[in-house]
Amino acid sequence: MSYVDDILNDLKEKNPYEPEFIEAATEILESIRPVFNVHPEYEKNFLLERFIEPERVIIFRVPWVDDKGDIQVNRGYRVQFNSAIGPYKGGLRFHPTVNLSVLKFLAFEQTLKNSLTGMSIGGGKGGSDFNPKDRSDGEVMRFCQSFMSELHKYIGPDTDIPAGDMGVGGREVGYLFGEYKRLANVHVAVLTGVGLEFGGSLVRKEATGYGLVYITQKALEPRAESFKGKSVVISGSGNVAIYAAEKAISVGAKVIAMCDSNGYIHDENGIDLDLIKKIKEVKRGRISEYLDYPGKSKTSEYVEGGIIWNVGCDVALPCATQNELSEKSAKILVKNGTKFVAEGANMPSTNEAIDIFLKNGVMYLPGKAANAGGVATSALEMAQRSSRLSWTFDEVDQHLKRIMENIYVDIDKVARDYGFENNYVVGANISGFVKVANAMVAQGVV
Ligand code: NDP
Repeated sequence: MSYVDDILNDLKEKNPYEPEFIEAATEILESIRPVFNVHPEYEKNFLLERFIEPERVIIFRVPWVDDKGDIQVNRGYRVQFNSAIGPYKGGLRFHPTVNLSVLKFLAFEQTLKNSLTGMSIGGGKGGSDFNPKDRSDGEVMRFCQSFMSELHKYIGPDTDIPAGDMGVGGREVGYLFGEYKRLANVHVAVLTGVGLEFGGSLVRKEATGYGLVYITQKALEPRAESFKGKSVVISGSGNVAIYAAEKAISVGAKVIAMCDSNGYIHDENGIDLDLIKKIKEVKRGRISEYLDYPGKSKTSEYVEGGIIWNVGCDVALPCATQNELSEKSAKILVKNGTKFVAEGANMPSTNEAIDIFLKNGVMYLPGKAANAGGVATSALEMAQRSSRLSWTFDEVDQHLKRIMENIYVDIDKVARDYGFENNYVVGANISGFVKVANAMVAQGVV
């Protein structure tokens, strides 16, 4: 048995109730096997044993009072996975599906993603099983205050800097920051994605979606391809999906389908993104409402409960959630002629789906590389705050574009160096891992 097999068996034995964490760890460890021939010192240093174990996991009670005066109790988490290359950094997710397994997988992925950005940020992730949907502003605020009254003990601008993720947008980050400031009595960059009026950065809102399109464009270049004229299907209609759609449309693509967890909207003539924004960002409504607007029903259809990947397209951008793209869906995409898949979400494709893409020559960019634009721009926000400067939209956007292009160049080179040309799973995992591993070796047994 190899070193990697031993570690994977051990990990499965120790974490039997954490399927998402096991899935992510399996993908990562399987693809970094070749590293241990080049770096025998990692095994000597028990590197993997330490790498797969979070440095710290905090679990806490979040009691709060709803609008009816009833007491509600949720569970809060922060997984501080790895701080070898910098303070923990990663989003907070408020969603009913949040549990320890999901957050450990996200924090593990985040560790490698943050390493790929080339910035000094370690990996963490947190959140709660609280569902902000259908809650009033007052309820969301009271929940955020209670959540932060415990979390604030464990975070800080040089320790751990959370941000948003699913269910945590500008409104939630604002409430969380307000409570932190009141408790700690300091106005510092302890959360990113905050409002522009109190230290936020331009482009942060757009960053993950824009970054996804920038890295995909860069990967299309050597293939003599571009977004121009291509049909694009984007799952989700949240922060990442909306701004991926905006950038894809601006570079000449036609976005023909988007969804939420109830169903998808399909229009071969191209979706009206302004309307999606109105429904999702302003009204916080359901995507099915798209058809309620006059003139929309002629060429568009809504498919309740349908799988969006059944819609034929040139480019697929999964931007909703983990495991939303199964082996079956991957086969359908291949059959329908999709040549390019780039992930805005974290681990949206199952490991079986990824195998289908790689075996069929689909260009596949994994989330940890393709969606790194959000966290990279968070780091740019931290830089602006500590220098008390605000960059223009174009300045931040140019930085973001350069970072995403560099990530592509890096993972492409590493994949080639290890003899896995065009395999960006190998390229991203090895590149991200080696930097963290070298830092861990240098810092001794900690
Ligand atoms: P949002 O909460 O803003 O949006 C999520 C979207 O996905 C919603 O439209 C939601 O629909 C939809 N969705 C959720 N579950 C499903 C499902 N099972 N099937 C179909 N659609 C579903 O989240 P974000 O856009 O911020 O995040 C999306 C993904 O991107 C996540 O994996 C996140 O971790 C990742 N990511 C986000 C970053 C960011 O900067 N925001 C950075 C890097 C990664 P509904 O409203 O019905 O739930």
